[in-house]
Amino acid sequence: MPISHDDPSHASGVTLKRLPLRKAAVLFIVVVCLCLCGLLYLQLEQSRRHDLAVAEAASSNLTRAMAQQAEDTFMKADLVLTSLADWIQVDGFAPAQVPRLQKTFARRVQTLSQLHGIFLFDQKGQWVVTSFEDLPRGPGVADRDYFLFHQQNVSSLAHIGPAIRSRVNGEWIIPVSKRVNDKDGHFQGVLLAGIKMSYFDQFFKSFSIDDDGSIFLALTDGTLLARRPFVESQIGQSLANGEIFSKYLAGSMSGNAMIGSVLDGTVRLHGYRQLDAYPLVVSAASSRDSILKGWYDTAFKSSVIVALVVLGVGLFGWVFVRQVRLGERVEKDLRKAKEALKLIATHDSLTGLANRRLFEQALDLEFGRGIRQSSSLSLIMLDIDYFKRYNDAYGHVAGDHCLAEVARVVKSCCHRTTDLAVRYGGEEFAVLLPNTDIHGAMVIAEQIRRSVMNCNINHSGAPSGYVTVSLGCYAFVPTRLDSTEVFIERADAALYQAKHSGRNRSAVLSMDGSVGELMRSDR
Ligand code: GH3
Ligand code: MG
Ligand code: MG
Repeated sequence: MPISHDDPSHASGVTLKRLPLRKAAVLFIVVVCLCLCGLLYLQLEQSRRHDLAVAEAASSNLTRAMAQQAEDTFMKADLVLTSLADWIQVDGFAPAQVPRLQKTFARRVQTLSQLHGIFLFDQKGQWVVTSFEDLPRGPGVADRDYFLFHQQNVSSLAHIGPAIRSRVNGEWIIPVSKRVNDKDGHFQGVLLAGIKMSYFDQFFKSFSIDDDGSIFLALTDGTLLARRPFVESQIGQSLANGEIFSKYLAGSMSGNAMIGSVLDGTVRLHGYRQLDAYPLVVSAASSRDSILKGWYDTAFKSSVIVALVVLGVGLFGWVFVRQVRLGERVEKDLRKAKEALKLIATHDSLTGLANRRLFEQALDLEFGRGIRQSSSLSLIMLDIDYFKRYNDAYGHVAGDHCLAEVARVVKSCCHRTTDLAVRYGGEEFAVLLPNTDIHGAMVIAEQIRRSVMNCNINHSGAPSGYVTVSLGCYAFVPTRLDSTEVFIERADAALYQAKHSGRNRSAVLSMDGSVGELMRSDR
């Protein structure tokens, strides 16, 4: 594709494609920051899971130990009651048996530290024998749940009831009771062992749990038997609506769950376990905040460090991007300045046309192309008629304006992008027409001549009264033997002919170099 000789970017050669450094830098910094945040998140999430897993294992171990202890405690009481019930069933509890039974009861209570006391109640709920030596006769226990239970249920299995306050000394006890039958299986009374709630209290206190942690023992229906921390008003309350009873125990006899407490609202990791042998549930819980205390600490410190690094990278990126932007602006300014310089170096400041330097470059280029492609190259040389007189008549400033106007007309007659209008020197112009034969050149020359005339620039020194121009045209298909100097000389010779023949005309020099026929076209 032919390139315009006027295009300043043309001569700058191959331009390397710039990488979008600013966008790449912003993208890189954003990716680095995102990666840092992503790594922090992954690392924190992993350590959080690890901390929770460790806490879950510890919680499972604790509930297993508690379940074992609770089972042992109740089983020992159960065994004592079973052996006593068997004995009473055979021997009865007539007044003659009472002293012996009392001693046996007392011995058992002494042996098992978890026991508060052992009581035998008759059919009406009045005690007959107790492990206490001189217990005053009270109102009886006919109204107690466990008594009513055994009265109405023939089962000989031990019954564990909700915690109650002993009517002997006001101590909190968990009643484990058995039905006493006569030989025929009729209800004879109830045998009861009271397990000290303080026994569980002591046991619970032997574990180290955080201040917000909790441990409890409850019946499977959710009735709270013992709890650490001990809050008296909560004993006997129902936990049935809590998630352990309403949700988790239905699915599994043991496990771990993160639950908000129905009692105090604290979120805790609960290990829970239902006993196999008795309708009891134990649970140990540590508050989530205490489990993750170390993690919160690490998370805070890591986040601060990463935030500082991100801030640093961001700041560096900002400075870097600013510098890149500044560099781009400087480069843009330099490019503009270079283009302006190039324009100054290759163009004439008065007329804006190409100067001799650009003309010579273009001529060399088109000469080469003409040789390669065997295409015709034309040159028009143009000189303003009687211009010295014009200057003399109107002054140099008006002369300059006239030159600019003629240049504009010459330029406007160059239709192809490859056509080049040149201020050759003084009031002489040249028009280089690549790929154009002599006929085409003559057409353009005449067009220029007529256009200048039609501008009607007054010129008192010219015979026509207006500014006119004379033009010399030459065209040939260049070969390696030809030179650009001869090419210019021949166009100049044609111009000389035009001047010599009376001015305001176009002349052509024939291809063989002999003086050609003059062509004249008047207004
Ligand atoms: P001819 O028809 O034979 O060409 O007559 P002429 O007066 O034009 O003769 P010549 O070409 O020798 O005159 C050139 C004049 O052009 C001389 C000079 O005063 C004037 N000239 C050259 N360059 C400039 C210019 O840049 N500005 C002005 N105002 N005049 C210029
Ligand atoms: Mg001249
Ligand atoms: Mg002249």
